[in-house]
Amino acid sequence: MTELKLKTDTRQANWRRANPDRYLSHVAVQKALTQGKLVKGPCEVCGSRIVDAHHDDYSKPLTVRWLCRRHHSRLHAGGEDMFCEKGQAHEHR
Ligand SMILES: [Zn+2]
Ligand SMILES: [Zn+2]
Repeated sequence: MTELKLKTDTRQANWRRANPDRYLSHVAVQKALTQGKLVKGPCEVCGSRIVDAHHDDYSKPLTVRWLCRRHHSRLHAGGEDMFCEKGQAHEHR
């Protein structure tokens, strides 16, 4: 059994190929952080200091929201609804 272990075939590399705009946005954020143009804030939901940059719009790579891992994945999974922290009731108005 032959297993090819190409460095360019990692999940991360594949993700970059599939999502070039997201990848470039993250690169822009990392660069801005090291240059001091962008400063990390606490998670906007729980105030955690360990945060990721979330992009509402990938065409604006430096317009980001700071969210911890947990709330970041919840935002992607459930949209803005996740900010209704109390209970799981969905209000339809
Ligand atoms: Zn959080
Ligand atoms: Zn995000």
